[in-house]
Amino acid sequence: MPRKITDSCIACGSCAEQCPVACIEQGDIYVINPDQCIDCGVCQEGCPVGAIEEE
Ligand code: SF4
Ligand code: SF4
Repeated sequence: MPRKITDSCIACGSCAEQCPVACIEQGDIYVINPDQCIDCGVCQEGCPVGAIEEE
């Protein structure tokens, strides 16, 4: 299952910089493209506010 970014996101950009397949889009909160996410967990480990969850 792909990871999902919740409303806790503070739009710091860390996850988008670290994603190995560049599937996280910038916005008011960041959004993971579920069709491209390989579920590696890198973004979840690096999120400073714990805003990324497994679906
Ligand atoms: S690392 Fe966390 S807080 Fe930062 S943009 Fe990604 S989901 Fe949002
Ligand atoms: S789990 Fe991996 S592939 Fe999926 S959005 Fe996070 S860093 Fe990118």
